[in-house]
Amino acid sequence: MINMPKGQSTMIWFPELKNILKTQWEFSLNIQEHFDLMNILNDELNKVRKDLNVKPPKYFCKHCNERHESVLNMVTITSMYFALERFDIFSHKEHLELKRNWRKYSNQNSINIHGKPIEEKKHESITPATCQ
Ligand SMILES: [Zn+2]
Repeated sequence: MINMPKGQSTMIWFPELKNILKTQWEFSLNIQEHFDLMNILNDELNKVRKDLNVKPPKYFCKHCNERHESVLNMVTITSMYFALERFDIFSHKEHLELKRNWRKYSNQNSINIHGKPIEEKKHESITPATCQ
């Protein structure tokens, strides 16, 4: 296996994912299909991370003075739109248009960038589940 550079725990767009996005993205897809693609990308991301033994970085918690594992970033619908522009599959204009459509869809359906229903604000980001 090739040595991976440092910082792979924050990396999302591994070549495998980039390849999936490039080959499976189509302009005719609707937002539900965007989420299907996002799920495919996240499955691949989990596989790549497992292969590379990528572990989430630990951070110091002020609540209990211990170290907790942080949560690894996953592909979200908006990060996918950013990637499409970054990889030159999209122009900036197309990117903005998709984002506009997405905001409308998100408001109408109360769906968050992970494709889940929008709930009350979570405490997770302040107090991790492993705390106490
Ligand atoms: Zn804690």
